[in-house]
Amino acid sequence: MTTRRTFLGGMAVTGIAAGTAAQAAAPRATIVSTWDFGAAANAAGYAKMRAGGSLLDVVEAAAMVPEADPENHSVGYGGYPDRDGHVTLDAVIMDDAGGVGAVAALEDTVHAISVARRVMDKTPHTLLVGEGATRFARDQGFPKVDLLTPPAEQAWREWLKTSQYKPEANVENKRGPHAGPRGGALDHDTIGLLACDVLGRMAGACTTSGMAFKMRGRVGDSPQVGAGLYVERGVGGATSTGLGEEVTRVSGSARVVASLRAGLSPQRACEEVVRHIAQLRGDAIKGVQVGFLALSPRGEVGAFCLLPGFTYAVTDASGATVVLKAPSLFAA
Ligand code: ASP
Repeated sequence: MTTRRTFLGGMAVTGIAAGTAAQAAAPRATIVSTWDFGAAANAAGYAKMRAGGSLLDVVEAAAMVPEADPENHSVGYGGYPDRDGHVTLDAVIMDDAGGVGAVAALEDTVHAISVARRVMDKTPHTLLVGEGATRFARDQGFPKVDLLTPPAEQAWREWLKTSQYKPEANVENKRGPHAGPRGGALDHDTIGLLACDVLGRMAGACTTSGMAFKMRGRVGDSPQVGAGLYVERGVGGATSTGLGEEVTRVSGSARVVASLRAGLSPQRACEEVVRHIAQLRGDAIKGVQVGFLALSPRGEVGAFCLLPGFTYAVTDASGATVVLKAPSLFAA
């Protein structure tokens, strides 16, 4: 378990790292997450770390921020519903000691990531879905909450007029008070999080309401270990966002981690999987966004995507956060 001392130890290491090559190679405590809204999530994760939380506590606390944000229409409360009007959530949490918990098609529960953690901590299973996941959440004391907010319902009713599935890349960049409902669009954007400490231990989390107006019962990449998230001790971690079907069909995050194991840097590993998807899928991924984010146990970060616009947030052991644009394979 990571203690405050082990994570914050990274502050000293980071400060000294400029000095010698040996010191520069030491792990640097780092939290990374997908999209601009990852910055607020990272801040909550960092606060949890400073309070002495484990790495699992850190990624869970971070993931809970967008889950509770009604303005975020792609994660948790306020998320866009499926095409039948039900908001259904997918989430996974994992550490580098084989701990995994996940839920898919969870309903009426704000914090899917915390239910996923209970699956990990309290059951012999790794994934609960649908009615069983929702019943488990109630049994565990998570309050029943209607997740469909008026703006999300309005967007859904607008979408029903055409009921068209048409990918809209980088929806997150258009989000906000002036965005309005996007009828006819296939909105999606997940928060994926990775954290490492000064000992090089790691954990990750991924949580989403998935593709807006999806078919009832559709599960994306996000809660699937190896697709939306993968973490391996001593090797690194990866997480994904974008059109989940394109990530799932290549076990995207596991592929990134396999590349890290083979010696690629986090940046090269993200590039490799995105190129692979593009080559495999050709015209089928025209206009589709997929983005990967990777972290090594030493705090090295990589990110790459199909289309411009994928952003990610990096928080170092001093608590400083930067939001960066990932390079992309295609110009637009
Ligand atoms: N990957 C998520 C899904 O397909 C959505 C997203 O990240 O945009 O469910």
